[in-house]
Parts: sequence; C-alpha cells; structure tokens
Amino acid sequence: MAEVTLTKITKKFGDFVAVNEIDLAVDNGAFTVLVGPSGCGKTTTLRMIAGLEEVTSGEVRIGERVVNRVPPKDRDIAMVFQNYALYPHMDVYNNMAFGLKLRKTPKKEIDERVQAAAELLGIVEKLKSKPRELSGGQRQRVAVGRAIVRDPKVFLFDEPLSNLDAKLRVQMRTELEQLHHKLQTTTVYVTHDQVEAMTLGSKIAVMRDGVIHQYAAPQETYDQPLNQFVAGFIGSPAMNLLTARATMNDGMISLTGAGFVINLPADGRIDAVPEQVIVGIRPEDLAGPLTEGENLLEMRVKATEPLGNELLVYADCGGEQVVANLDPHQHVEIDSTIKLSPNLRTLHLFDSETEKTIL
Ligand code: ATP
Repeated sequence: MAEVTLTKITKKFGDFVAVNEIDLAVDNGAFTVLVGPSGCGKTTTLRMIAGLEEVTSGEVRIGERVVNRVPPKDRDIAMVFQNYALYPHMDVYNNMAFGLKLRKTPKKEIDERVQAAAELLGIVEKLKSKPRELSGGQRQRVAVGRAIVRDPKVFLFDEPLSNLDAKLRVQMRTELEQLHHKLQTTTVYVTHDQVEAMTLGSKIAVMRDGVIHQYAAPQETYDQPLNQFVAGFIGSPAMNLLTARATMNDGMISLTGAGFVINLPADGRIDAVPEQVIVGIRPEDLAGPLTEGENLLEMRVKATEPLGNELLVYADCGGEQVVANLDPHQHVEIDSTIKLSPNLRTLHLFDSETEKTIL
C-alpha cells in the first residue's frame, strides 16, 4: 500500500489545458473518487497516475517515489477499465494469471493468488470459461480479479461500472466497497455518477474544467459545498438555485426573489452580503404545502412524481424551476399554486458573481 500525491499536476493537449495544476493527496489505504461532468479531466488525471499519459508539469508520487518518468508496469499499480479489456481467447484463469506470468511469478504462487481472488469475487466456477461466456458483471469481476492478483500498491478504476445495467451497478458497487474494506488497498476511482462517488469514496474530489473544486468527505461536500457548482452537482435531485436580491439589517438577511421573500438570521456567521445572490435549497429541505406563514416560496405545480417513499414535485417559482421532495402521503394537484417552507438552517447562499459559498 502507498499514498498517492499529486502536486501541481498539469496536462495540456496542444494549447488545451485538460488538467490545471491539480493538488491531490490520497492517504495510504484510502478510497478517493474523482467525480465530475464529462470532459472535466478525471480520466486524464487517473491516466497520469497510471503513467499512461505523460505529465506536462507537476509531480506524481506513489509512496515516497516520484514516478513521472517511471513506466506504467513499474509503478506497482493495477488499473481496471470501463470496457474490462479482457483477452477474448483466454479463459478466466489465464486472463487473471497473465500479468503474473509476464512477471515470471512461480506457477504455484500464481495458482494460489488466482484461486484466492476468484474465491473473493465468487467466480471460482467460471475459471475455465471464456469472457464471451460471462455476463457483464462476471466480466467486470474478472477484470477486478486481474487487478487483485497483482497485489499492487494502488488500484486505479476508470468508470468500471458504467457498462452494467442499473441493478447490477448497485450490486457491484457494494461488492467493490466490501472488497476495499477487506483489502484496504489505496484506490483512486473515476466516475461521473455522484451516487457512486458518495457511496464508495472515503473522500471525493469534485472536478470541473480541469480543476478540483472541493476535496472532502462525501457528507461534507453535501452539507458544506464550497461553491455553487459543487452544491448543484452533489445531491439528487439537484439543489434548487434561485436568484435573489440580498440586503442585511441588524443581523437579518433579507432575500427577495421572484416567488419569495425570506428573512434569514445571520447568527453572526457573516456581517455583509453582496447585492446579487443565489439561494440554494435542497429539494428535501422544502416542506409543505402550507397555507400561511413566513418565508414561503410560492410556485405553480408543473408535474408530480409519487414514488411511494417520497413525492417529487416539479414547479415554477417566479420563472425558475424548483424541485421539492415532499411527504408522499398527500395529494398535490398539477397546475395548482402551492407554498412551501424552506429549512432555514440548511439554506445556502452563493455570490452570484464568483459562485463562491457565502453561507
Ligand atoms: P469523461 O467522463 O467523458 O470520460 P473526463 O472527465 O474523464 O470525461 P478526460 O477524458 O480526462 O475527461 O478529458 C478531459 C479533456 O481533455 C476533454 O475535453 C477531452 O476532450 C480532452 N482530451 C482528452 N484526451 C485528449 C487527447 N488525447 N487529445 C486531445 N484532447 C484530449
């Protein structure tokens, strides 16, 4: 096992900066997830750790060793790809054993390691099968098995579950979590799926445009997003972001938007507000409908989704889309006007110019 440390890592393709001076420290044995929208630079970052992509500037360290000039095969890493990359003409045993044979590992040791990995992954009875005879989930297990038998210092995963159907993805996700719990191997995992990131990562790095916007424990990115982008990316359905004018008087912040006036006690947290702000309210932090009260958001219902455990309401609040996650044991009419109450303790405020978190 080893820690992975990136210092001011940059990757340029011609003039295009795909990764821009990233700093990232993955602790020994930790499970770090790189998450962000398509094209944000997460795969490029992972490939630089693996040595599959040359670093334009900056330093990659695995353990104590700077590996910028070390070829992938000598970095003591094992990578699992989205497309599994199994050898079609080899059976499962040989797919898993291949890397060890190349390294001239003694046959007895190869047998033991493949057997142990196959047991761990529940594919012992498939050792003689060819990849084409396996389901997507089984193929992915073989790809993971091939990484495990190498007993590397670091596992690198590039969207390993995105070719699987939704149910299998959930199952494999929990299997990967259990596997990491058993093996405790330092892992860097790339996904665009924020649920995967939240459930697997001990820490997640939320990326956009080649930059890490926040690197923290999953719950922290949800509770205390550092900016509007992280706030909108983490959480499903996404946080509602509403434009408002803000003023502050005697410790009270007044927020006026198209469908609401909210008076929020600053409680000493800040002593000034910019004039233009974005109010962030998570769907699960809206309650109602209510008939009267203060600090309500008025909106016209566009659609409803009763899901049994929750009722999602899509509405128009002064021209802006709002999603609310309400108590399912009530009926909300389409086209009706309703008033919902935001939880003021979890309400977020962002500077509309810089997108940084104010509250
Ligand atoms: P996705 O989830 O779609 O895989 P990503 O976050 O992993 O996205 P990268 O694959 O790291 O994104 O790509 C980051 C940016 O760098 C993209 O804009 C991509 O087009 C660009 N890029 C990646 N590889 C190359 C390359 N070999 N040549 C030129 N541009 C590239």
